[in-house]
Amino acid sequence: MAKAAHADTLRLNSPIEDAPGVGPARARLFERLGVRTVGDLLRHLPMRHEFEAAEGGVDDLPVGAVGSVRGTIVAARFVPSMGFGKKGRFEATLRDAQGQTVSLTWFNARYLQDKLHPGMVLRVQGKNKPYNGYPQIVNPKWEALDDDEPPEAAERVRPIYPAAEDLPSRVIEKVVEQTAPRALPLVADPLPAELLHHHNMPALDEAYRMMHQPAHMDEAAEARRRLAFNELLLLQLGIAMKRRFVQDRLTAPPLPHNAAIDEHIRERFPFELTPAQKKVVGEVADDLSKTRPMNRLVQGDVGAGKTVVALYGLLMAVLDRKQGALMAPTELLAEQHFASISAMLEGSSIRLALFTGARNGERAETLDAIKAGEVDIVVGTHALLSDTVAFHDLALMVIDEQHRFGVMQRAAFRMGPKDAPIRRVPHHLVMTATPIPRTLSLTVFGDLDVSTIDTLPPGRIPVTNRVVGQDKSDEVYRYLNTRLERGEQAYIVVPTIDAAGHETAQQLKSVNELAKLIQDKYCGGFKVAAVHGRLKRETRQRIMDRFRRGEVHVLVATTVIEVGVDVPNASVMIIEHAERFGLAQLHQLRGRVGRGDDGRRSLCVFIAEPTTEDGRKRMDAIASSNDGFKIAEMDLQIRGMGDFFGTRQSGAAPLKVAAIPDDMDLLLLARRDAQKMVDADPYLTHDDHLLLRKVLLQHHGEALGLIDVG
Ligand code: ADP
Ligand code: MG
Repeated sequence: MAKAAHADTLRLNSPIEDAPGVGPARARLFERLGVRTVGDLLRHLPMRHEFEAAEGGVDDLPVGAVGSVRGTIVAARFVPSMGFGKKGRFEATLRDAQGQTVSLTWFNARYLQDKLHPGMVLRVQGKNKPYNGYPQIVNPKWEALDDDEPPEAAERVRPIYPAAEDLPSRVIEKVVEQTAPRALPLVADPLPAELLHHHNMPALDEAYRMMHQPAHMDEAAEARRRLAFNELLLLQLGIAMKRRFVQDRLTAPPLPHNAAIDEHIRERFPFELTPAQKKVVGEVADDLSKTRPMNRLVQGDVGAGKTVVALYGLLMAVLDRKQGALMAPTELLAEQHFASISAMLEGSSIRLALFTGARNGERAETLDAIKAGEVDIVVGTHALLSDTVAFHDLALMVIDEQHRFGVMQRAAFRMGPKDAPIRRVPHHLVMTATPIPRTLSLTVFGDLDVSTIDTLPPGRIPVTNRVVGQDKSDEVYRYLNTRLERGEQAYIVVPTIDAAGHETAQQLKSVNELAKLIQDKYCGGFKVAAVHGRLKRETRQRIMDRFRRGEVHVLVATTVIEVGVDVPNASVMIIEHAERFGLAQLHQLRGRVGRGDDGRRSLCVFIAEPTTEDGRKRMDAIASSNDGFKIAEMDLQIRGMGDFFGTRQSGAAPLKVAAIPDDMDLLLLARRDAQKMVDADPYLTHDDHLLLRKVLLQHHGEALGLIDVG
């Protein structure tokens, strides 16, 4: 037998096909679940455990307590409630091997009509509550069995696995059962035994055993704790090691700061800084004056005024005859920053350049000027990170509206010759309008210092929100016209449908068609224009400029306008198919209005037909609050942490077992342990840390920029 030949050579990285009971077809199904190797199988953890009573006959069913019985369905029917077509109960009669019967009832379970049929063998579990002395279970759990399935003789805890079509949890369970005895002894524990002993935690192999095959529920909980701790400790170690690395091996130019410099910079701003901005500017200036590279995140709701904080830092760099760069997530936003910074610096001798991915004639010239130090501040997109861009003397890199962890990390560690014992890097400032709940800032963003701009500039009036159905869109667009007549401007946003986040041809057509419809049918007296990502830069810029100057009144746009666009006179936003947007994105979009200080109240209309529970929750949430921090918390609740900030795509391994914020205590424990370990052995080079170090670099090396730790 082919399998037997592998018996003593099974390894954790053996293909899943080498596991007992797995042939090529099943291996493909496992792959769909991300299980490619035997090790992956061990790491494919149950999402929950269910208690199962020992299986018996109907006569063995305890009264009023949970019991389990096996039998054949002898009758089944749906009984509609009076007057309601869809509601009703599903009833079945189950006969056991001795010929005794129990009646089963499920309320509001019409769908069972298609699932349960006479002749099927079921195991059901639930509380027996006899009716007229006749055994009955209401809403029992059930599973369909093959005729020859051996009975569950004893009560047990059953793992319930994330499954796929044609690969149900039960099959995964069987494969794990057969594989575990050979695979578990191969698991090496990266954590020092002493530490585990101290926390009273099981070794890793034992934790996997307890997770997959717990003897009782407490074992599963104990295993979960160990595995969650593992994840959190690795992450905290990565963060502690990176902090240490920054301290030991990186240096940034200290930028002078004093009252005269402060005054000189503030003169440039057309307004007084708010107290919140002053506080954050102070924190940034303080960091910039040190040789330890700044790694700071400034969070502030949309419209809070983050740009001037960035500009303040950039001007500190320029005053010290060094360069500053501002990186924006889209070309549109880079152009906008370039325009507004140019306006603020008008009349000064500061030299500004715009550098985006667009290939135009000036590109080579701009690159030369940046390299020669003939440009003081460069505003651009991710193109700034490409290898072709060489700075003369970059002191500060600002990354605006960046929610993607990976991008920030890569940006932070690219600068300077790699082999120098001490590398010179620029300071880094990251700005985001998506606030980070504290639990997250300690985990995913743990290596950043955080500043918060927690108030808006004066004079802002909260946006009024309306969620309406498609049937109201005619009314909405008629009302839009009356707002335009009052001299206001509006955005209309159409979603990107494509799953990869690209605009599809279909959709671009819909942007243009919608613009035409609104122009012709509703807003004949005004100018309506469309913008989307596929327009040439010049064209888009021309339209945006006209919108800014008030020559275009309605801008129909895709999410290219999501971040940063700042036209204070635009006070109405209408979002089509709002249910297709994420909550954070809706909040970002809404942030484009409510920016005026003329006492007018802005309006945001969400046209939505939510079809899912999450969709309805998002609409309720967006309508109920204008507060970005609250929205972010609700978003975290609805989406879960893995999705937050797109960490999933960025390669930073999301936490799989640990749950944030529930495991806050474990997180703090891991943080303390990690700090102690790194204090004693900064790069984990001691013998008993080598495995830990290897696992750490595998998991977080790239995302945290630890590769160079070497
Ligand atoms: P965001 O934090 O969303 O990036 P911006 O920096 O674009 O916000 O600022 C939003 C608007 O508020 C801009 O028009 C800006 O000029 C204005 N602004 C910023 N700070 C102040 C202030 N202290 N007083 C008045 N207006 C301000
Ligand atoms: Mg901004």
